[in-house]
Amino acid sequence: MSVEKLQFQAETKRLLDLVVNSIYTNKEIFLRELISNASDALDKLRIESLTNAELGGSDEPEIFVVPDAATKTVTISDNGIGMTREEVIANIGTIAKSGTKDFLDKLREASGAAAQELIGQFGVGFYSAFIVADKVELLTRKAGETSAVKWTSDGAGEYELEDCEKDSRGTTIILHLKEEFCGEDEYNFTDVYEIERLVKKYSDFVRYPIKMNFEVKGKEEDAPTIEIRTVNSMKPLWTRAKSEITREEYDEFFKQQLHEWEEPIEIFHVKAEGTVEYTALLCIPKHAAANLYYADYEAGLQLYSRHVFIMDKCKDFLPDYLRFVKGLVDSPDLPLNISREILQQSREVKVIGKALEKNIQKQLAKMLKDDRDKYEEFWAQFGKSIKLGVYGSVFDTKLKDSLKDLLLFQTSHEKKFSTLAEYVERMPEFQKKIYVAAGKDAAAIERLPQMELLRERGLEVIYLTDPVDEFTLEALRTYADKEIQSITRENFELDDAESQKVKAEVEEIAKSREDLLKDVKEAIGEPVHEVRLTSRLKSGAVCLATGANSPSLTMEKTFAAMNNPYLKATQILELNPNHAVFKKLEDVHARGKDSSEFKELCKTLYSVALLLEGVMPNDPAELANKVTDLLTK
Ligand code: ADP
Repeated sequence: MSVEKLQFQAETKRLLDLVVNSIYTNKEIFLRELISNASDALDKLRIESLTNAELGGSDEPEIFVVPDAATKTVTISDNGIGMTREEVIANIGTIAKSGTKDFLDKLREASGAAAQELIGQFGVGFYSAFIVADKVELLTRKAGETSAVKWTSDGAGEYELEDCEKDSRGTTIILHLKEEFCGEDEYNFTDVYEIERLVKKYSDFVRYPIKMNFEVKGKEEDAPTIEIRTVNSMKPLWTRAKSEITREEYDEFFKQQLHEWEEPIEIFHVKAEGTVEYTALLCIPKHAAANLYYADYEAGLQLYSRHVFIMDKCKDFLPDYLRFVKGLVDSPDLPLNISREILQQSREVKVIGKALEKNIQKQLAKMLKDDRDKYEEFWAQFGKSIKLGVYGSVFDTKLKDSLKDLLLFQTSHEKKFSTLAEYVERMPEFQKKIYVAAGKDAAAIERLPQMELLRERGLEVIYLTDPVDEFTLEALRTYADKEIQSITRENFELDDAESQKVKAEVEEIAKSREDLLKDVKEAIGEPVHEVRLTSRLKSGAVCLATGANSPSLTMEKTFAAMNNPYLKATQILELNPNHAVFKKLEDVHARGKDSSEFKELCKTLYSVALLLEGVMPNDPAELANKVTDLLTK
């Protein structure tokens, strides 16, 4: 039969227009698509051979990829099922994919970035060849037939079909590369090593060998010889039985697959065959990425379907607080050409994600129980993520419950890390609440004047040294039915009889000093909401408490750093009536509340209270002058 010219179906034409004009940002995907087709053709042959043994012949299934700089081509061939002339017309001239028309209509209405986004989600399969080629030849011979057919097109409206010679079963696709992909710009698809890299990147786990020719230089006088090598590793590690895989193999896999430099600290290999079938191979890296908590960090898992790579960085499987988990999911229940958009709404993805989240939580809990050192190592790197998870779960009691026992905090007890359960376990009978204090570091918290009394009573305090800690515990509110109480909040008090007695005494004194307290507040002015007497100080003269429902001083700092300077702490200045400074204050006050001596004394006390909380007073120079004055007096 002579050359036959045929028109592409209208929709194919429109789609080809898009591809030829190269709107695809990822130029490399053509190879993955064509190899994936070749692999499917080998699958089909294998299945048909089950009932027709003669079809397969004696040759082993294989895929060959041959880049050639001289002819500026890349050839991809397989010895799979092949196609008849009719099948070529039906498969390669038309698009059977449902939703193509809708997609094209949507695309026509979209523009710029929105159009790019849409295109990126729509796989074009075989037509992706036209991303890199200005002419494509396809030679194919159906298994069991003797005749072959050649299909040729430049992707512009029509294609040619003619009979041809092909001495073996299968399909060969020759891509005549556009100039820009032959090494002039950033791509060189005529380069063996470049193509080898792409095969490894996108098709490493294809179940059939992907072979390439490599030139091997002999001795100087010898001509180079050609060596055929299989480029892909073929057997996906995750499909093997867990019991057969060594830790070294897992480690090596993650290094190769995820470009990790070190062995992961923990590995999850999950296989499920319930409503949704999937295998997941996940890990927790040894170190947190430097940008883990920044907007430019790209979280997400790799997605495979039947061992064929579909996409990277799928964020839809795991919740944000597990953003540090890396790895892949392979599920035959997710189609190869699934778009990111559809992925987001996929029921299968939700089912898989929920199961993985639970699995990770369980494994972390086990690590905490069985290998405390390892867990603390994990915590040092990723504890913040778990804390953010609790913080983000204000309205999700179930999530909160499943994360609260994973939390670790440093406490005043031997300065070690402790779970909340361990803290509660150590609480004395009379202690009703869980005590916490925030500060820059343990030393800063230990210097808080409020700590003195607790230390004396042997009461343990949880140190909140990471800005997120306070937010996390505010979200938690209680643990084991015990309220979480900051020792710097206005409503903090000790529950024992002795403390209650002292408190009553101080309240009695306060009644007769109402005027003084009012005048101190007036002298300091705006920043202080109230001035009170306190029973919570021992040797300290003053301290600053914050309102029970306002942000704390440390939270105020965090808000300010986040460009939110309006969320402020309600400050309450507390004075120790048993301190010599208080007596002095009374004396000076008696001489006149409007005297500059009284006003200065009040302001200095306030500055001191701020400093004790690690907050710089508004006018540090003024305070410095006063201190030097005092020294010279
Ligand atoms: P998809 O692979 O999503 O079906 P493609 O456009 O990539 O879409 O391919 C269309 C069809 O062409 C395939 O379904 C298959 O029937 C046929 N085809 C493509 N490549 C080959 C090949 N190498 N061998 C046999 N058939 C092929």
